[in-house]
Amino acid sequence: MTDISRYLVNPELTIREALQKLDANRGEILLVIGSDGRMLRTLSDGDIRRALLDNAELSDGLTVLPDKQPWTISLDDQIDEAFVLMQENGIECVPQVDGHGRPVRLLRRRDFEETVWLSSPHMGKDELRYVHEAFETNWIAPLGPNVDAFEREIAAEVGVEHAAALSSGTAALHLALVTTGVGKGDIVFCPDFTFVATVNPVLYQGATPVLIDSEPNSWNMSADALERALHEYATRDVLPKAIIIANIYGQQAEMDAIMPVAEQFSVPVIEDAAESLGASYKGRASGSFGACGVFSFNGNKIITTSGGGMLVSEDGELIQRARFLSTQAKETAPYYLHHDLGYNYRMSNVLAGIGRGQLSVLHDRVARRREINDEYRAAFADLPGISWMKDPQHSLSTHWLSVMLVDGHKFGASTDGLINYLQGLGIEARRAWRPMHMQPLFEGTDLYAHLPNDVPCSRRHFESGVCLPSGTNMTDGQLARTIDAVLSCREKIAVGA
Ligand SMILES: *Cc1c(COP(=O)(O)O)cnc(C)c1O
Repeated sequence: MTDISRYLVNPELTIREALQKLDANRGEILLVIGSDGRMLRTLSDGDIRRALLDNAELSDGLTVLPDKQPWTISLDDQIDEAFVLMQENGIECVPQVDGHGRPVRLLRRRDFEETVWLSSPHMGKDELRYVHEAFETNWIAPLGPNVDAFEREIAAEVGVEHAAALSSGTAALHLALVTTGVGKGDIVFCPDFTFVATVNPVLYQGATPVLIDSEPNSWNMSADALERALHEYATRDVLPKAIIIANIYGQQAEMDAIMPVAEQFSVPVIEDAAESLGASYKGRASGSFGACGVFSFNGNKIITTSGGGMLVSEDGELIQRARFLSTQAKETAPYYLHHDLGYNYRMSNVLAGIGRGQLSVLHDRVARRREINDEYRAAFADLPGISWMKDPQHSLSTHWLSVMLVDGHKFGASTDGLINYLQGLGIEARRAWRPMHMQPLFEGTDLYAHLPNDVPCSRRHFESGVCLPSGTNMTDGQLARTIDAVLSCREKIAVGA
């Protein structure tokens, strides 16, 4: 939560001190509270202007201001009532107070007037400085000091030795496959429940994906299904060239179950950590478990460069090779010489500058996403038919997206019913990933379910999963509005509204 305390002042403050505090809060508003924490009044720029025109002095205490009954709503009120008060009285902010009259959050006009997005870019303070530096030194392209520094900083953050900054997470996955030696006709085991970009590069290489279902706890690759698949393929003498795992919605896959199985068959693991930068598993950073790991800085990810990716590995040669392939595989020679098929996949120095600024606020972003998830879980704890991904002690999820499972019968509205209802209120929610085995693109692809002869877990997660707004630039008011909308959905839909 945005700390409400930065709006609170006691009546002993002087007008000058109040103006300074208002200035620090970008002139929004102050809440004057008594010694018992109860709210006495709101205080705006306009209130002070009128007091000064009325001959008050800057050194006077706030007690000289005339009394003003504040417009507030209580915790029991629908959040929308704050907006009604704003409209009726032409005011910009309405505090919400608890049963003792103590302010708990400040609601603003824009909390109601702006769309609540699923996960939109959230810039920090330093991005523009790095971008300016790039402009001032004309390091626009190719590469440059921001790229080198961003690679070092990501490697340090994740605790691996080497990193290559690339144009997208998809490009990083593609080069992960190329440098692992995946080629035409090879088999690659892939997660079934993921975004299509995890699996597409397998097709780029002319290789064949085999889909492995999720397990019900982490929603990520089932070690049981993986083991069964490896045994079967080993019997046919066609082991996969690689196993790609994905860490969906910011949650690490169950590495203690997966890695021993992969090691038993000596198949390298490629970790698609596009959604899990900042997560950890038993104290170890997400993205650092496989032979190589992939991050994405696409616009909707926890941090963004507007578009970009990173390949990380302990293997310096692999990263060196990826850098070489990402810049057209141009050999060192006095003319243009190419032995290998290369790509144009490198990250620009301007975008790496954005990435450096974003990386410096990663931990704040993780904390806020987790807080948003906590708020949803607490608010919907008594709703029938709602359940969540497990949040085990040994795993620190970033909760990049907060995704809940909705049992339509118990809840009283289907996933699509809820999503459409929220959309009508200017709140963006989305379905969970549609599994790869349900994509026409992968029709006929071999699939190993978590429990043999059972419906794949991935299908259940798809059928009942709803991704809720999870962006870190969502205001407290917008979060409260989203929560209220979900809470009100059942009765509204039941009466056909
Ligand atoms: C976003 C994402 C990607 C692709 O990353 P881009 O940078 O958009 O190419 C790959 N895998 C997963 C799981 C993702 O969520």
